[in-house]
Amino acid sequence: MSAPLTILGTGMAGLGLARQLRAKGSQRPITLITSDSGDDYSKPLLSTGFAKKISPEKLVARSALQVADELQAVVRTHTRVDAIDTRTAELVIGAERLGYEELVLATGASSRPPFDIPESLHGRAFTINDLDDYRGFHAALMALNRPGRVAIIGAGLVGCEYANDLRAGGHEVIMIAPEDTPLIRLLPEPLGRVLGNTFLEIGIDMKLGRMLERLRDEKTHAALTFDDGQSLEADLVLIATGLTPRLELACQAGLEVSAQGIHTDRYLRTTTPGIYALGDGACVAGLNAMYVQPLQASAKALAATLTGTLSPVSYGAWPILVKTPACPVVALPPRNTPARWRIEGEGNDLTALAEDVEGQLIGFALTGQCVRRKVELARVAPGLLV
Ligand SMILES: Cc1cc2nc3c(=O)[nH]c(=O)nc-3n(C[C@H](O)[C@H](O)[C@H](O)COP(=O)(O)OP(=O)(O)OC[C@H]3O[C@@H](n4cnc5c(N)ncnc54)[C@H](O)[C@@H]3O)c2cc1C
Repeated sequence: MSAPLTILGTGMAGLGLARQLRAKGSQRPITLITSDSGDDYSKPLLSTGFAKKISPEKLVARSALQVADELQAVVRTHTRVDAIDTRTAELVIGAERLGYEELVLATGASSRPPFDIPESLHGRAFTINDLDDYRGFHAALMALNRPGRVAIIGAGLVGCEYANDLRAGGHEVIMIAPEDTPLIRLLPEPLGRVLGNTFLEIGIDMKLGRMLERLRDEKTHAALTFDDGQSLEADLVLIATGLTPRLELACQAGLEVSAQGIHTDRYLRTTTPGIYALGDGACVAGLNAMYVQPLQASAKALAATLTGTLSPVSYGAWPILVKTPACPVVALPPRNTPARWRIEGEGNDLTALAEDVEGQLIGFALTGQCVRRKVELARVAPGLLV
């Protein structure tokens, strides 16, 4: 039997790796450690629950106990690792020191509000990047006992998905962002406009092109003031302004990191021997994608490496399916700025092809009926890490 493996994090990356190892027949002892409940859930489903009226508990596929049983692993829940002592190969957990032989960091990313949320607004202003966050937001909305009025700050993937989901669930939604069109990192402007117009049609109040200047607690509601002097009130505020990789443990342990994440090579090896990283916290060969497909590819490659077949990870051309059913969107954003976007189609059904200077396809974006073209286009688009 090979040396025990310690995995920090039970998100899709940590559990995905453990599952891949067991699928390969590896019998090595595995300890999974997480600061949360350790419940196994699909994070992408968090932004689909209001339309389907699914409670947070229904999103739990397996409890930590069931995970431990399935994977024949030790799962330590509600256990925050405070530091990694690479000199003695120990994890510091409060007063406890726990030895490790090989260590995998699957510690993910955390929400990045661009401003401090006043303490008095806790319970009214939320970020959602895990099931516990979602439980808190869901409980606050349900406690209103009526459709809520929710202000969403941010028009990226998470903000757009919640806007569509909350509206479909019968809530009033206001979307606020400095950009002029939603999904600016995934869609060229004409396609972003299609999504924005659809949001307007389904009754979402779009307040784009403005910045939030003040967020105040008014006891019965939150008050928001913008840089154009306008203000509005909301029952709840959802701040969806992006994520930042969790770097504290790696940084303090002396691993190479940057704002992009914990640096690894294509074998998911960090700069410290015996420590690997994958998922939202890892910057693999210069790229941190923060999506499911790359972490699944990483889990597969790392499982092969850890069972004796050194395997570099590669990411295919994976289109992102944005869960905005009011206006279906698929995007494969180009890694480099395209020389031009070629836009075809009419109405809500648009295809945007990102081309380099030689006219080669380097990415694409699709809305409406054109999302059907995703497979055909993904076949000819380059992978992001090949
Ligand atoms: C609402 C939403 C919708 C999404 N939809 C899609 C989608 O449709 N398609 C797609 O490809 N991607 C989607 N994503 C992104 C995708 O879900 C993430 O890329 C993925 O879930 C990240 O998994 P992870 O395991 O790397 O990180 P996490 O899920 O963040 O897991 C991190 C783990 O590390 C633990 N941890 C961290 N620090 C410590 C510590 N010090 N001690 C102990 N434990 C620690 C945490 O407790 C947790 O268990 C979505 C994300 C969100 C928020």
